[in-house]
Amino acid sequence: MSVRPARAAEKTDVVYLRDRQEIEAIRAAAQLVARTLGMLGRAVRPGVTTGELDRLAEEFIRDHGGRPAFKGYRGFPASICPSVNEEVVHAIPGPRPLREGDLIGIDVGVEKDGFYGDSACTFPVGEVGAVAGRLVEVTRAALMEGVARARAGNRVGDISHAIQSHVERHGFSVVRTLVGHGIGREMHEEPQVPNYGPPDRGPRLMAGQVLAIEPMVNAGGAEVVTRPDGWTVVTKDGSLSAHFEHTVAVGRDGPEILSAADGDGTKEEV
Ligand code: MG
Ligand code: MG
Repeated sequence: MSVRPARAAEKTDVVYLRDRQEIEAIRAAAQLVARTLGMLGRAVRPGVTTGELDRLAEEFIRDHGGRPAFKGYRGFPASICPSVNEEVVHAIPGPRPLREGDLIGIDVGVEKDGFYGDSACTFPVGEVGAVAGRLVEVTRAALMEGVARARAGNRVGDISHAIQSHVERHGFSVVRTLVGHGIGREMHEEPQVPNYGPPDRGPRLMAGQVLAIEPMVNAGGAEVVTRPDGWTVVTKDGSLSAHFEHTVAVGRDGPEILSAADGDGTKEEV
């Protein structure tokens, strides 16, 4: 899940540096998220409903010793956010069946033994159109451009700028009104991690920080609106949107992707 940028009065500026044991605990939660996303990716096909995916996810997470972190968060009623086509993030699962050619962004959060992991992936449903396919690849690559900047000594703005540059170079736009975040003993901690902005600005990154980096990318304009359900964020112009997210530890020598699908974060290209 992403967060709305905090007003100055709400900001705490408390940043946690995690020791190795804490990072491994966050990794355990994030790995359960990764395995849940892998399972859901195999379940995505025409005809399956977003509600069915939600039930599969909740059962899988609980069977593996975790708790779905989104369920009950500020009243959110389900375990995953399955956002289809023009839905950007935070969609509520329900009876909607997926159709051939849809894009579905699935956002999953897990709490395990007091620590949180958060990750998202956008899946094509069957064969998708050329723009949809390109949007998925550009958003995935933009996430990895941001992740690559998650090293001690850089600033948050270096991550933001890398994401924005990659997206805009390919003719798409980044959502401004929702941002990534620190994560650890809470799902949402400081600092905020915008997906746009100038490099070499914002808080300095320190080894031991853990961030959820999560570009939300629209095929059309950057503007979004929230549906009357109070949760589902959609593109204002109705264009397609994609979302990828990883939970990442800032290291002295580079990033560690704690939610990597391969388990140790070393095989994904960064
Ligand atoms: Mg998320
Ligand atoms: Mg998040």
